Amino acid sequence: MGQEIPESFSSSLVEELSVCGGDADFKGHKTVTEISGKLYVIGASSEDVDSPLNVRIFNKSTGIWSVPTILGKKPKASKFHRAVLVTDNRILILTGDSSANKFAHFLEVDTNFVRERKELLGGEVVAWSKGSIGEGPIPIVISGPSGVGKGTLINKLMKDFPSTFGFSVSHTTRAPREKEVKGVHYHFTTREVMETDIREGKFLESALVHGNLYGTSVEAVEAVTDIGKRCILDIDVQGARAVRARTIEAIFIFIRPPSFEELEKRLRDRGTETEEQVQKRLRNAKKEIEEGKEGLFDHVLVNDDLESCYTNLKKLLGLDDNIQTRAASVDFKTPSSFTISRDADKIFIESQYNTETRDGIPKRIVLDVSSLKGGAPGRTRGLAVSAEY
Ligand code: ADP
Ligand code: 5GP
Repeated sequence: MGQEIPESFSSSLVEELSVCGGDADFKGHKTVTEISGKLYVIGASSEDVDSPLNVRIFNKSTGIWSVPTILGKKPKASKFHRAVLVTDNRILILTGDSSANKFAHFLEVDTNFVRERKELLGGEVVAWSKGSIGEGPIPIVISGPSGVGKGTLINKLMKDFPSTFGFSVSHTTRAPREKEVKGVHYHFTTREVMETDIREGKFLESALVHGNLYGTSVEAVEAVTDIGKRCILDIDVQGARAVRARTIEAIFIFIRPPSFEELEKRLRDRGTETEEQVQKRLRNAKKEIEEGKEGLFDHVLVNDDLESCYTNLKKLLGLDDNIQTRAASVDFKTPSSFTISRDADKIFIESQYNTETRDGIPKRIVLDVSSLKGGAPGRTRGLAVSAEY
């Protein structure tokens, strides 16, 4: 059986730290975890269970507190949480009274993503990443030149499989087209706001496309994944390359036109761009079609006849017309207060109250962290969980 993990630091040390003033903002439960001579104090500034978890860092050698830039969506405090150091660069936070898909979060303190942002922003930076049980549905990235039919194919998928797929609504600085709806087709924004958000790490990827900024926010993908759907991203080749570089697992599909002339015809017939914009998009299309051949994509589909292309798309996604796939779900609630113990890659969560026999709360929850993948700015996937009643 696992080894009991002591509360990272004694309460007297926490009190001593409080005297130094650095974590005076924290009310209620807090945890302290040491990594490379720094103490990461995690707690909330209010006792309200819905308030977000915050972080303060105490450098033991300099005696200086710092308030880091916190990237990613902060988990809700709940009344109780525990911190476990999983690897030397990320802390697993487990919250009490939470549902199975919300109880595990990772605070990254020195991953590649955090280091990259530190260089850009300066000072201390940490990043939250939501823990995902199992593999989760792998996102689908669809790229291809403007006018090839990406939107048309995606709309068909969403219409035929509404409970399976969800569209990642991108941000863009381009003006809305006549029929485009704010928050449905795009989040329309300004360059200034978007550049600030990009610096603050709110985007999984972003790129300058045909003279405008486009980007996929972490929140856009989360909005789809949170409701158990498989996320579809319609992004350009630069965006696809950036997603690949972030080692986010996805299926990458490139849509090609049957000919350049046909692409030009579709783009013009759509009638949504000015002549100047059409010219620009066609110039970029030549480069994109070349890049589509470079092995970045797992599949290349030619959109000649729409129905056959759609059939091929469904086939490669393993979709049968009659099957509505949904992500497998694990359902339980964590106890309101618990002890944790550990045996190598396994973490055991046990209720502190034997009397806690409310429905849906297991006696013991076993977490296996041996196959973690991904991480901020996306989810940390591959958590294996079993519940014993
Ligand atoms: P994208 O999203 O790649 O920019 P759209 O989905 O908007 O492209 O398609 C561009 C235009 O081409 C639309 O008017 C659409 O109806 C049309 N279209 C899409 N696929 C086909 C096809 N296979 N054959 C003919 N026209 C198509
Ligand atoms: P449009 O202006 O026609 O809607 O899109 C122009 C191009 O921008 C398309 O190639 C589309 O795939 C791409 N695009 C849309 N959203 C994003 C995004 O979030 N990131 C990136 N990199 N490209 C995007």
